[in-house]
Amino acid sequence: MIENLFQIANEILKQADIVEVASHFIKVEKSGKNYIALCPFHDDKEYGNFYISKTKGIFKCFSCGAGGNAINFVQKITHCTYEEAVLKTAEIIGFDDERLKGAKIKKYVNPEEEEIRNCLKNISDFYSTSLFLSEDGKDALEYLHNRGLDDETIKYFKIGFSQTNGKNTIDFLKSKNFSLKTISETGILNLESTPYRDTNSGRIAFSITDRNSNVIGFSCRKFRESDTSVAKYINTSSTKLFNKSTILYNFDNAINEANKVKYVYLLEGFMDVIACYRAGVKSAVAIMGTALTQENIQQLRYLKAEIRVCLDLDSPGQLNMYKIGKQLEESGLSYKFVNNDVDFTEKDADEILSKYGEEKLRSYLTNLVSYGEWLINYLRKNLDLSLLDGKRKFINSMIPYLSSIKEDIELEYYITTVSKITDLDKKVIINALKKYNRNNKKDNIVSTDYTETPTQVKKSKNQVISKLQLAEKELLHYMLNNKEVVDKFEVQLSYFITPEYKDIANLIADYILNVKEDDEYNVKSIISYLSNSDVKINNKEQITNDLIDLSLNSMKIPPYSDEIFKELVETIKNERQTISNLDFYKTSSKNMSEIEKSKYAKACLNKIKNQITELDKKRRN
Ligand code: ZN
Repeated sequence: MIENLFQIANEILKQADIVEVASHFIKVEKSGKNYIALCPFHDDKEYGNFYISKTKGIFKCFSCGAGGNAINFVQKITHCTYEEAVLKTAEIIGFDDERLKGAKIKKYVNPEEEEIRNCLKNISDFYSTSLFLSEDGKDALEYLHNRGLDDETIKYFKIGFSQTNGKNTIDFLKSKNFSLKTISETGILNLESTPYRDTNSGRIAFSITDRNSNVIGFSCRKFRESDTSVAKYINTSSTKLFNKSTILYNFDNAINEANKVKYVYLLEGFMDVIACYRAGVKSAVAIMGTALTQENIQQLRYLKAEIRVCLDLDSPGQLNMYKIGKQLEESGLSYKFVNNDVDFTEKDADEILSKYGEEKLRSYLTNLVSYGEWLINYLRKNLDLSLLDGKRKFINSMIPYLSSIKEDIELEYYITTVSKITDLDKKVIINALKKYNRNNKKDNIVSTDYTETPTQVKKSKNQVISKLQLAEKELLHYMLNNKEVVDKFEVQLSYFITPEYKDIANLIADYILNVKEDDEYNVKSIISYLSNSDVKINNKEQITNDLIDLSLNSMKIPPYSDEIFKELVETIKNERQTISNLDFYKTSSKNMSEIEKSKYAKACLNKIKNQITELDKKRRN
């Protein structure tokens, strides 16, 4: 536990530049007064949802609703506890403080998952010992050596061998006091088939790790001629810890490596990752299936490095690259493709390395092209361009890419190239591009002003905010920026009617009571107070969001003055009166005749109308 967590958090927030903190994890761009990015908390494809206010120290996504201060950002993006986020933020901004020294953060651990993880580590170690030390493992080790893997590489990638007698693994784990239930939850034991045995038996086992280098599963390869089982590889089935779609092989090592070299290779299989490693290219990951998932894209984004896509050169691999190119194009990540225009027939890094050696593999890997150049090669190989249909398909496949090009020279280059290849006039291609752009009109006009954010537009259309709400909102906004207004509010009005504003006003009052007199008073600090576990409020997330909305809506509101304050108080009091009159109408109208009722209702309405006209007049003056 860190003592005075809230105090420290506040000091960190005072120093932290939220743009710098966010840039640690995502790509942030300046746009007018504010900063924008693709939201890392939902599958965001276009700019215009996610904003960061440097001056206010807060962020907000108008699409998924995520928002908060710098510490909240770190907590959300790293999925940690609030305390850990405070420490991480301190580390990012270089906030050095005695009070944080020796702060032992108690990570929340699920005891059941911890037991499974522990069991998996034991399995991995047992596989390793079996490979290097058991008689049974000799031919497996020989096989790996023959494939060019030395002992160092085998250990680096935690490669092992599951003994031919599958009972041995289970017996070993039982001797370590693991229950059959735990063993089955690692994915290596099927409880429904007896006698109990390791389902990976007789295979070479490649450990698969999570981002913290914990073993979470295995991919096991058959290697003996005598092995007649069908599958070349068996992957751990889905378990509590292992979910194929969220895994990038070797991601844990790539985090450090990519940080050094600022690129990462995206490969198809783990043998390719190992081949790259042997050739000295250590920053590499592999997808675990055939598709690049949204989780994978988030993981790649986290690396903040250029993605270098290098899938198999056979047709399924190339088709996959085509799809991945589209995904990466949409993701806004920086990426290149390894050139597919090659003079050999081997299909992947592993084959290239064993046939031609390290030098050739390195030169293949560093021959990088843009997606456009790659695409042209790909389409040329797969279409018959002597036919009209082939030309049409070629152009149709190129157009979305052309549409994404921002630079004129580059666009000109590609249009000329496409024109030459298809033997069609440039005008034809330009017209097709224009038509495509018209049909896919992008509303990515990024506003630089919060008053024009998408939510605001939506709100003004769908939701008519009542006069009372409006006045309360405006007053609350002033309260958030000026502590003295809070005092005046408490004396003259003391409460709000609108539920969300009432909650916020209560929070502010509570905040002021609990912080030191000279503490910073602003939205990010109030949010920090709210994030504190000592503060027991139910709908914290909602209140945080409301606070941010209020704070960011500021541009429409005139600067504070005593005059405006008086006016707002008057409006709110009048509106409250109207509401209580209407309540009176509801209760007293039971005894009125129909005519009386309608007269009374009209009178009430007129009163409200007059008040509105009156106020509008005042405003205009
Ligand atoms: Zn979002």
